[in-house]
Amino acid sequence: MEHILKRNFGYSQFRPCQKEIIEQVLGGRDCLVVMATGSGKSLCYQVPPLVTGKTAVVISPLLSLMQDQVMSLKQRGIKAEHLGSSQTDQSVYSKAESGVYDVLYMTPEKACMVPPRFWGNLLNVGMCLLAVDEAHCISEWGHDFRKEYKQLDVLRGVLFNVPFIGLTATATEKVQNDIVQSLKMTDPYINIGSFDRQNLFYGVKPCNRTQSFQEELVAKILKYKASGGSTIVYCTTVKDTEQICQLLRDAGIVSGIYHGQMGSKAREESHRSFIRDEIQVMVATIAFGMGIDKPNIRCVIHYGCPKSLESYYQESGRCGRDGLASVCWLYYSRSDFSKADFYLSDVQSENQRKAIMESLIAAEKYCLIASCRRKFLLQYFGEHKSGDCGNCDNCSRTKVERDLSKESYLLLACIKSCGGRWGLNMPIDILRGSRSRKIIDNSFDKLPVHGHGKDNTTTWWKGLAGLLTAHGYLKEVIDDVYRKISVGPRGMQYLRDSNLLYQPPLVLELTSEMIV
Ligand code: ADP
Ligand code: ZN
Repeated sequence: MEHILKRNFGYSQFRPCQKEIIEQVLGGRDCLVVMATGSGKSLCYQVPPLVTGKTAVVISPLLSLMQDQVMSLKQRGIKAEHLGSSQTDQSVYSKAESGVYDVLYMTPEKACMVPPRFWGNLLNVGMCLLAVDEAHCISEWGHDFRKEYKQLDVLRGVLFNVPFIGLTATATEKVQNDIVQSLKMTDPYINIGSFDRQNLFYGVKPCNRTQSFQEELVAKILKYKASGGSTIVYCTTVKDTEQICQLLRDAGIVSGIYHGQMGSKAREESHRSFIRDEIQVMVATIAFGMGIDKPNIRCVIHYGCPKSLESYYQESGRCGRDGLASVCWLYYSRSDFSKADFYLSDVQSENQRKAIMESLIAAEKYCLIASCRRKFLLQYFGEHKSGDCGNCDNCSRTKVERDLSKESYLLLACIKSCGGRWGLNMPIDILRGSRSRKIIDNSFDKLPVHGHGKDNTTTWWKGLAGLLTAHGYLKEVIDDVYRKISVGPRGMQYLRDSNLLYQPPLVLELTSEMIV
């Protein structure tokens, strides 16, 4: 194995995990590999065919990605091809059936379409594994569900003696289980690398589209530019990319732009000048993603909250590949959190709708917590970290704690009175003394707490609601696409112990939004 690694890939040793995974596959065992982008997953399915002389079939979602991989394998003297571009398919088929290829790539659609006879012939000449790349696409609970992936389960019936390897960079526990079940893996070897990128600093800031934000952005970018590193600014819309790019250019910062509405030529050019350091700043939508393997990105800024923590982790994770200290800043505005309609517009299945809502809520929570960001992120991916990281904004700022018993009582009492039928806006409007139509119609203006919370802004109250939810006083449920808030068991107990004049102390650490 070491000889092959040296001869074909030019590396002197395997990375931790690679060797173990390859040995398991060679032993015929199914594997689930969850490892960060750039950690070297592809070797896990590229080495076994060279050891065994049998073909590895790799399922991959994108044609362009497959082409890149095939090209780089060929340069390494490995016989690789892909099925997908139809004119050449016929000869690829017949060569594959006579065992010519070490590695054969195909899209999931192709994999489900090829006749059983093809698999039969391939098995006869020798097939060492079936790899499913970007395996999270198989799960409705994942952040990038694809229908074509779901059908891959039929392959198990044809390829029962071939080890399956599912590979992905991001999968929560739920998604991991889903992959194992969907691919009908039996007693798989599961290898989950750490999600902890210790050289990355995580920070979050609320922002409105104001002057101060623009100045801050420019200052940040200048700082990393001066140190010779690159920056990516991710925007949620094409319009934002144009605006931010203009803003930076006006400030004298040479910036590239990249989004899905540009022609492929312009995009390629933009990508190339970034990789070659001709431009140090790229303002882009998430279309700027796959295949960015640039070591010296020092800073990734998100302008607008991403739709899930999986995407955030992946996008922010593009900085600091060289292991040097780098920063990930996320600027959100409250309206980012009500974009569910937008993401749900063409989604059919109930589970998927729920998954999208849950992802969005998790991303919102990440923005609103007062505690360690890294700990929260890692927990989301099922990794427990003891102690705070000391390398995120919440760990670095001076903690502000306050007794919020009065305010908590008001919010809990108000939510209880609303009867769990509303989202957060209604109780907050009541506390702030609104006399909107809905409030009058429901007689909420008659509640004893009506108007008692005028001293704090809506944002402040939302901050408190976030804290009370995090501590189990409140609980949020998703009812189809609606988020409803109700009082949890701990909140009920607190209400029983309190009245309008007296509440037991409740000391909480304020989020940055609550500090005015
Ligand atoms: P992933 O699929 O996990 O995103 P890749 O397989 O593309 O990662 O590998 C990322 C980079 O690491 C590639 O440039 C690859 O050549 C390099 N790499 C992989 N394994 C090794 C190794 N054992 N030694 C040195 N470099 C490696
Ligand atoms: Zn921290």
